[in-house]
Amino acid sequence: MACAGSPNASAPATPAPAAPDRSSVVPGPPASLEISPRAARVYREAYVIDMHDDMPSKILDEQYDPDVRHPAGFGAGEGNTDLPRLLESGVTAEFLSAFVDARYAQKRPDESYARVLLYLDTIAAFARRHPDNLILATRAADVRRAKASGKVAVFIGVEGGHSIENSLDKLRDIYRRGARYMTLTWNNGNDWAGSSMGQGNTSRGGLTPFGRDVVREMNRLGMLVDLSHVSDSTFFDALEVSTAPVIASHSSARAINDHPRNLSDEQLRAVARNGGVVNVNFFSRFLDPAFAEGRETPLSVLIDHIDHIAKVAGVDHVGLGSDFDGVSALPAGMEDITRLPRIAQALLDRGYSDEDVRKILGGNMLRVMDQVLR
Ligand SMILES: [Zn+2]
Repeated sequence: MACAGSPNASAPATPAPAAPDRSSVVPGPPASLEISPRAARVYREAYVIDMHDDMPSKILDEQYDPDVRHPAGFGAGEGNTDLPRLLESGVTAEFLSAFVDARYAQKRPDESYARVLLYLDTIAAFARRHPDNLILATRAADVRRAKASGKVAVFIGVEGGHSIENSLDKLRDIYRRGARYMTLTWNNGNDWAGSSMGQGNTSRGGLTPFGRDVVREMNRLGMLVDLSHVSDSTFFDALEVSTAPVIASHSSARAINDHPRNLSDEQLRAVARNGGVVNVNFFSRFLDPAFAEGRETPLSVLIDHIDHIAKVAGVDHVGLGSDFDGVSALPAGMEDITRLPRIAQALLDRGYSDEDVRKILGGNMLRVMDQVLR
């Protein structure tokens, strides 16, 4: 197993088990992660917020039971997230994705909206089955309540703007049903926004006048405008329209790996000016140019993306968007959600302060949630 720490000289000489100090009801990271007492403390003190997790797709497509523990992996019966591991991970808030595949938008009549409603019900049912452990969350206050009570705040993020079938009424309806962000596109563009991939010969262009109305309505409702997956022109069009901080829920840095799903330095600086947060995606394909040559991605490459965004956009504008259960490869040492404390260790090893590590783990997103989610 690759060590989470970098070779930096400031790394603790002797990895030690989690600190015995219990300053909150949230348990410390398990000793098996071999992180230092300082990293364990910083992680335990932090609001840890993961902005993108596709476990609901496994529930709907693979009959994955989210209530029981599964081995870490990508095959049938394996996963990166489930209730036991959510609780063990010490995460404070997890955004579960209501992902509507492009094929639903191609059906006639369009089935995207019916599909997103099924996801919203599935995620809400998961949270409501476990009232002692989970909070079905819609506001920043729910994150603080979860932290104070040792529970996990489960938020809903919608993936794919085609979900609303070109209707502001449907946008308002998914908000009423708990959705608190929406990516303006998935890999497919739609009638009003272009995507970075243009899957199925769909738009890679910018926002139409209706697309601008969607962004304004999301601002008005108090819903996070999510620019992961969108084309560069839609990205800048949305920033021009939005009066609130935006997010990229699961996107990494193009300067380190030139992939259209990653963000350019110009985009990172634009998010910083807007006050928003770019949440790093953990998928090896997006992180590491060497992945395409069949090489395993080390955890240090994931940390390189966080570090790059912190340097270009500023440490106030970077967070975590794992894409757990939505990807086919993860860096060594980041096999599932229980490994998140290793990010605290790796950032401390690179010289980040306790406060900056807490910002990256979730403090920055909590700031934006305070501003946007009402
Ligand atoms: Zn995605």
